[in-house]
Amino acid sequence: MEIVVLKFGGTSVGTIEKIKKVAEIISIYRKKKYKVIVVSSAMSGVTNELVKKSRQISENFSEAEYDSLVSSGEQVSCSLIAGRLIHKGFKSRSWLAWQIPILTKGIHKNSRIYQINKKKIIQYLNQGGIPVITGFQGINEKDRLTTIGRGGSDASAIMLAKFFNAKRCIIYTDVEGVYTTDPNKLKKAKKIKVISYEEMLEMASLGAKVMQPVSIQDARLNRIDIEVKSSFINKPGTTITKRSNIINNKIITGISSTHNDAKVTLVGVKDKPGVAATIFKPLSKNLINVDMVVQNISPNGKETDLTFTIKSEDLSKTQKILKENTSINYRKLLFEKGVSKISIIGVGMITTPGVTYRMFQTLANKKINIQVISTSEIKISVLINKKNSKEALAALHKEFKLDK
Ligand code: ASP
Ligand code: MG
Repeated sequence: MEIVVLKFGGTSVGTIEKIKKVAEIISIYRKKKYKVIVVSSAMSGVTNELVKKSRQISENFSEAEYDSLVSSGEQVSCSLIAGRLIHKGFKSRSWLAWQIPILTKGIHKNSRIYQINKKKIIQYLNQGGIPVITGFQGINEKDRLTTIGRGGSDASAIMLAKFFNAKRCIIYTDVEGVYTTDPNKLKKAKKIKVISYEEMLEMASLGAKVMQPVSIQDARLNRIDIEVKSSFINKPGTTITKRSNIINNKIITGISSTHNDAKVTLVGVKDKPGVAATIFKPLSKNLINVDMVVQNISPNGKETDLTFTIKSEDLSKTQKILKENTSINYRKLLFEKGVSKISIIGVGMITTPGVTYRMFQTLANKKINIQVISTSEIKISVLINKKNSKEALAALHKEFKLDK
């Protein structure tokens, strides 16, 4: 009998009614003669509430106690699921991370799973039981509870699939899968049937809503195929797998857009070693996430312009840091809110020439000005005025045949 790992997200177990539905889904796999390992997140909103409580107790709440506190939501949902399965006549029980144990390394709040003891779970599966395992938590070498980052039950599921050599790993959530672009921004967005790990990681702004990015990295390293689907509607979802498993005739798999970016330009900075590092060091110290960075070639070899983008909410802090940084010299400092980054993503562009041109021509046809360009092997991003972002998204979606 093959093993299948079924993971349920917070919204899938958000109410008692939904938990009953989840037990229904689990029982279908059990009846199909799979050995089923269930992983659950906390009921939606619960983890946030617990985080809030910790802050009310102390601004410097102990990190070890934080992990013990915020991982408690998973105990509740797992017991409720197991209880419902027992009610339906199945053999089931909840397992907390320490009871297995699931071993983690690293700092509190952000540990990584490195080992899972299989013995007890295998024994239980062989007896026909359905183990319901808490996602998000583990224990460290001191037997303290740890958590593996917000949204971490995805990574728990991937690691369980890895250690138990599961045939399938299915992530049940509140969306039907990964879309070619955000369906809230473009009605024509289509569900993607298959996507590579790399594309999924690049689709950060789309993908991150569906799965925790580090869990996709875990899946990629361990070659675990993931299926993301809705727990409310019984329809095929999106499979995330390695590139060589994908026979795809589309060049572009998806388009992502941001809508809340700001652009900063330092005009006339010295063109010499160490300048860029001097500019970005205090930003990184202040945890300001810099996204696109472009430096012009300097026509005279003395001065150059440097442009970068950040989230709009970091703009005033960035302005302050740059103005106070006396070790950088520049002629002018320019800031612009209201820019949007549009990225086309697809492994197909590696082997298809002319994708860059097609993207630029499509925007040119709409008279949309490109302010900054950056590329990776499987992604081309442009920065444009925010007011054009919807139009750009629609035009590119059509150009690369994602409407169909
Ligand atoms: N309950 C945890 C959180 O809210 C873990 C998860 O949802 O995956 O972050
Ligand atoms: Mg989640």
